[in-house]
Amino acid sequence: MSVVKGKRIKRLGIMGGTFNPIHYGHLVTAEESYYKFSLDIVIFMPAGHPPHKKDGEIISAEDRYLMTVIATASNPHFFVSRLEIERPGPSYAIDTLRELHQIYGEEIEYFFITGADAILEILTWKDSEKIYEMCSFIAATRPGYSLEKFKELSLTSTQKKNKLPKVHFLEVPALAISSTDIRRRVKAGSPIRYLVPDEVANYIYKNGLYR
Ligand code: ATP
Ligand code: MG
Repeated sequence: MSVVKGKRIKRLGIMGGTFNPIHYGHLVTAEESYYKFSLDIVIFMPAGHPPHKKDGEIISAEDRYLMTVIATASNPHFFVSRLEIERPGPSYAIDTLRELHQIYGEEIEYFFITGADAILEILTWKDSEKIYEMCSFIAATRPGYSLEKFKELSLTSTQKKNKLPKVHFLEVPALAISSTDIRRRVKAGSPIRYLVPDEVANYIYKNGLYR
């Protein structure tokens, strides 16, 4: 049994992302997962070098990490990890899960939280079949992404006898917020208030990010 800040951990959520920047869509999804799946804590895991993203628009890992800390600081069951930003090379989920299993042990349950758009990508992740043995997935509905596509794909994979991830579906209050839109807004001088926590907006302006 692992203990984090006096809490005994049996069910651990991992919220992976680029967090470029973190926004209320991420926070609502993590909180709803915590509540619906009785998680003990959720660890936000900013990616160091996301293998699936174009490099140009990604600001430094340290800025993305700090904004994630600022945005989650007041929530007693949210934590932020430096595992991926400190590991050199591309951030693969398999390496992160192996490290988490070492830190927190094999006896606890791991839930990888993703938006519905990312759930389709899981099938393409490095060592995906090993990943499926190390965690299950929480797929949060996100406006514009249909879970039907995933279900169709699962069917064809079952017919091909491929291993599939264990996926729990979760409806979160629809928030059509994306980091891409926030970056565009900052660049255009449009408001981002009420899309990200005030402290995150202040950090962006203070440091001249996304201009
Ligand atoms: P970008 O626009 O740069 O791709 P993003 O808003 O999709 O950024 P990511 O850091 O790529 O944010 O997302 C991390 C995780 O959060 C992914 O699993 C993604 O599907 C999920 N997510 C992002 N925005 C939302 C949202 N509004 N509602 C639910 N899940 C979300
Ligand atoms: Mg995205």
